[in-house]
Amino acid sequence: MHELILVIEDEPQIARLARDYLAKNGYRVLIAADGAAGLALARRESPDLVLLDLLLPGMDGREVCRRLRAESAVPILMLTALAEDTDQIVGLELGADDYITKPFSPAVLVARVRAALRRAGERAAPSKLVAGPLVVDTAAHSAAYDGRPLRLTPNEFKLLAALARHAGQTLGREQLLDALHGADAADLPGFDRSVDSHVKNLRRKLEAAGADAELITTVYGVGYRLGGPPAEGW
Ligand code: CA
Repeated sequence: MHELILVIEDEPQIARLARDYLAKNGYRVLIAADGAAGLALARRESPDLVLLDLLLPGMDGREVCRRLRAESAVPILMLTALAEDTDQIVGLELGADDYITKPFSPAVLVARVRAALRRAGERAAPSKLVAGPLVVDTAAHSAAYDGRPLRLTPNEFKLLAALARHAGQTLGREQLLDALHGADAADLPGFDRSVDSHVKNLRRKLEAAGADAELITTVYGVGYRLGGPPAEGW
């Protein structure tokens, strides 16, 4: 864990409270006392979440929120006083994820932070790719067919993950080479046959786990496809 939280808050005692609560719960915390400093810190440190006071000297919380949102998907929790217009804060206009009214309890603060981080994590990484009986877990770096684990080399895993991510669609050699070696390598002709040999090994391992030989289909002159075309149930 140890996610980094940036607290942008000009009232020192509130900033300290937030820092202490969050640190006690295992988060790393940075504090900025005004909007411009907060924005600069956010750009430099790429925090996992920003806790942003609405009323700040100089550049106010609304403006900081707008600018942060324009350049990143970092979750933003606004700190507000009760009287402020919370609808507008969490509305599309500003793009904040949630708000917390002051004074806040430690339990509420930590729960809101945790929830926002969890939602952001789910948005960022759907780590399990499921294509029929095939499951590829990109976070755990594991794959299984019909519950039977597949023992794959790193390159075989990358190819299978790319195919599973686009199950039912044909991936051209260029896309498969991108998946294997990154975007720069697609021009190198020597890599072309490596895709074929990895696919051959993948097929052998999938078949050993009970899959049909045609689970990875050759689309002549184009590339490969995992599963049949959409009409066949993929
Ligand atoms: Ca303030």
